[in-house]
Amino acid sequence: MKYIGGHMSIAGGVENAPLHAEKIGAKAFGMFTKNQRRWSAKDLTEKNITKFKENCEKSGYKPEQILPHDSYLINLGHPEPAPLLKSRNAFIDEMQRCDQLGLIYLNFHPGSHLKKISEEESLKTIAESINLAISETDNVIAVIENTSGQGSNLGYTFEQLAEIIDGVDNKDRIGVCLDTCHSFTAGYDLRSKNACEKTFSEFDRIVGFSYLKGMHFNDAKKGLGSKVDRHESIGKGEIGIEGYRYIMNDKRFDNIPLILETPNSDIWKDEIALLYSLID
Ligand SMILES: [Zn+2]
Ligand SMILES: [Zn+2]
Repeated sequence: MKYIGGHMSIAGGVENAPLHAEKIGAKAFGMFTKNQRRWSAKDLTEKNITKFKENCEKSGYKPEQILPHDSYLINLGHPEPAPLLKSRNAFIDEMQRCDQLGLIYLNFHPGSHLKKISEEESLKTIAESINLAISETDNVIAVIENTSGQGSNLGYTFEQLAEIIDGVDNKDRIGVCLDTCHSFTAGYDLRSKNACEKTFSEFDRIVGFSYLKGMHFNDAKKGLGSKVDRHESIGKGEIGIEGYRYIMNDKRFDNIPLILETPNSDIWKDEIALLYSLID
């Protein structure tokens, strides 16, 4: 079964995300568990938590169909001690919020070296940050998202993802989310069946499909290997529709959340329908 959805708003409370998702025919959804542009947030209330679980149950969303995303402010590979500590604490808080909501994944961008330390050192710091967060929480799997490699952001090669995983002690609590726009603009071609076959066999060899816990579906405004992270609606960008046809017909992408982060949320309902129509 393919679980497709969009990244839903939590305006008015996290409990509203599943309701919004149901309205657009989604079988999965992404969400923040707090305002993603602020460091601190009010704790989730008992009411938020109960309502969220109730609404998920009513709309038929199980934890494996939900891919929460952490705050954009967090940098788990930060080169300086004070901001690193701030990031680590915020990340632990986000993992705990997911635990409270009964969720099993937290999707995050690995981090940036900010040109102050080597990539190698920053990757080690990221793995150490994940180890800390895992030791402070019960169940949630930390799901690293690959990046397009813009600026000093790490996680733009499969090797870097594998290196982070290698540094994490509890392999049951670490996973990967592949963003199609990020993969493509980092240099992994997805424009045809052959290109997908090559890209995903490389992913399987270097990282392993057992770690794939979710995907973000975004077409790309910029070209292959451009390292520019600009999302486009499905089929309207440089990737085109064939890559999605490949994924939709491949069982290795079954039973994980496949989340749209495309720019026009007004057409998510149509994009979801379009993606399901690609299944042979
Ligand atoms: Zn993404
Ligand atoms: Zn992006």
